[in-house]
Amino acid sequence: MTVFVGGQKYCFSLEDISKGHCDKMREWVRDQPNQRFTINRSKLAFEAILDFHLTGVLHMPLSVCPELFKEELDYWEISHKKLELCCLTRLSSYFRDKSLLKDYKTSGLCLPEKYKSSPKSSVTKCLRKLWDILNCRGNSLETRVSCVSFLQ
Ligand SMILES: [Zn+2]
Repeated sequence: MTVFVGGQKYCFSLEDISKGHCDKMREWVRDQPNQRFTINRSKLAFEAILDFHLTGVLHMPLSVCPELFKEELDYWEISHKKLELCCLTRLSSYFRDKSLLKDYKTSGLCLPEKYKSSPKSSVTKCLRKLWDILNCRGNSLETRVSCVSFLQ
């Protein structure tokens, strides 16, 4: 049996593929009378699915985006719970981080407090500059310009 996925050719015996672990792939094979078909999916993700089908062990390739891999699992109707612990951890931490980032974006806290620009921080900046001037620190052109503009 020959399958083309993302331009890559895969050959395997009908016997091996018809007794694999992925139900949807077994159905696919059963419905292909000519034993030669093309799947328009990512070949990297497909290889992991194929490995799972043949061995029953599911890992997520390092070079595949977890988002894309989850879509692939959904397409092949494989639960993410079938992933080995190493890769289940990676997938779940990706989705946890993604949801955290979404929360940060909606709350406007995408940067830690000290990096945020706010009226309070510009007041602090001004006070620091004034403190530098009063202590005769910062003898730079910028300090002198600030001093002049402060006095006007
Ligand atoms: Zn793994």
